[in-house]
Parts: sequence; C-alpha cells; structure tokens
Amino acid sequence: MLKGYGEEIAKIYESLRVNNEESLKNRRDEIEKIIPQVIAMENKIAQLSIELSINILRKTKNIDELIEETKEKITELRMKKSEFLVSRGYPLDYLEMQYNCSKCKDTGFIGVKKCDCYKQNLVKILYRNSELNNMLERNNFSNFSYQYFSPNRNSNEPESPRKNLEKIASISWNFIENFSNSEENLLFFGDSGTGKSFLASCIAKELLDNSYMVIYKTAVDLIKDLKQSRFAGEEELEDLLINCDLLIIDDLGTEPINEFSKIELFNLLNTKLLKRKKMIISTNFSIELMLKNYSERTTSRLLGNFTLCKFFGEDIRVRLNMNKKK
Ligand SMILES: [Zn+2]
Repeated sequence: MLKGYGEEIAKIYESLRVNNEESLKNRRDEIEKIIPQVIAMENKIAQLSIELSINILRKTKNIDELIEETKEKITELRMKKSEFLVSRGYPLDYLEMQYNCSKCKDTGFIGVKKCDCYKQNLVKILYRNSELNNMLERNNFSNFSYQYFSPNRNSNEPESPRKNLEKIASISWNFIENFSNSEENLLFFGDSGTGKSFLASCIAKELLDNSYMVIYKTAVDLIKDLKQSRFAGEEELEDLLINCDLLIIDDLGTEPINEFSKIELFNLLNTKLLKRKKMIISTNFSIELMLKNYSERTTSRLLGNFTLCKFFGEDIRVRLNMNKKK
C-alpha cells in the first residue's frame, strides 16, 4: 500500500504548482487588459534585473554604482506598480505567486526537513479509497448517540453502560483537546459491540480533521505490516507506524499470537512510548486475558502507560440487527 507514496506526493505538489502558475497567469492576463501599465512595469523590472546580472557577470566598470542605480529604479517601479494595483482595488500581492503552503512554497520540504503539509498529504494518500475513509464517514461524533446504551445499571458493574460511556466520551474529548501537549494513551477494553472501535474512529476523525497524522490498523493488519517491514525491507512503513501522531490498534487479540507477533508488538509499544508517540488500543480481552496472552513486559506497558477505559453493556450490533429485523 505504501510503496511509491513518495512519488504520489511529488505528483500532488507538482499539480499544486501547475495550478498556482496557471492562476497567476490568469491574474496577469486580467491585469494586462485592465491596467496594462502594471504589466509593462513588471516586464521592465524583470529586464532591469537581467541586465544587472549580465553586467555583474561581465564585471562592468563602476558596477557598485550601477547596482545602486538599478536597485533604486526597481524600487520605484515596484512602488508605482503597487499604487496602480491598490488604486484599482487589487491586493498588493495580486501578481505574486499564491502558494497553498507558504512555509514550503508547495515543495513539501523546508531544506531537507519535511513540511507539515507533507504529512497532511501523506494522510490524504493513505486514506484515499481506504476502508477507514468509509468508516470515518459513518463513525464520527456527529453520529454518536448514547441512546443505544442502557441507562440501567447491571449489578456486576459500578454504573450503567450509558453513564460509563459518558465518562469515556469525556476522557476522549480531553484526549483530543489536549492532544498536542499530553502524553496520554488510551486502552479501550471490554465486551465486543460496546462501542470501542466506534469511539476510536470518532477520535481519529477529529484529529485527522485537525491535520494530525493518524494511522489506523487492526491488530491483524499491524502484524502483517510489521512482518512486511521486517522481511521485505519496507522501512518507510515502520517509520510511519512509529512516527505518526496517533496509532490506533483495533481489536488487539485477534491477531495470530505467536513469538513473532509478541516481540514485534512489544517493540512497537515500547518504541512509541519512549518517543512519546501516542496510541489508542482497543481489545475485547479482559485484563485477565491480556495478562494471559501477552508477556509481562507488554502488559505492564499496557496497564501502566495507558488510561484504562472499560466498556460494557449489550452488544450494540446485535441490538441494531434485531431492531432491523423487527
Ligand atoms: Zn508546506
């Protein structure tokens, strides 16, 4: 899925530049018709700059004076040009290139460092046509409702499923609002069909909309990816899993649990915790089952570095299906 994404991103920037050049050309054509003097001044400025460069290369006599003189001429022309534009109601930068990202001028890079917009474009590529994209359309806070959760307390639990979910939703909002300055991770655990994945994708949607880089993986796909990066040398893939702003691992415990998966899972959790890169993990496992299935060092990370959110109640999917059949 990820192979060649660098090329795809380059294409995105290329088309941004083409579009921006095209619109600049259109604005120039427009001005040429309405205030042709302005375009004439622009051409004159360009001509002066070229002549000056040639003279500098030729080491013409009195070059310092010539530089000063040309600079003055150019400044004067620029001022006149601005006056013309503004007096006709155009913004000062109307004939400048307009970038979608002024920080990197739509190149994706500031020096050798990737610009923030690069990450956003990467996210776009990752989610284009992906299953998550469809999922996020359905599973988001605007479709979130407590009505499927019973307001009645079961004697085994300290409070009603609805009250419990309200608490977890509030933890989730806190997580979103303090995302950039907290080190919190969330562990959603409990019975299936109680809203864990739904809430995780609600959070993903909010953060993606705020331009954070969120990677969503089922535990099964995560282990596949780790295998691929280990054995097919797809380092970029591992780099993404580690360095994304938020990694969501859905359905932990459904992956084939073996030595490889246990070691890889521990390494990933540990690296991310050391790098303070956040995670949300959902699992149908109870704490007892986590302790039984994963190594002590993995569970100690899970139980020690994550805010534990226990989900309980009736299986919503079963209930929704029953309602449909009625
Ligand atoms: Zn940028």
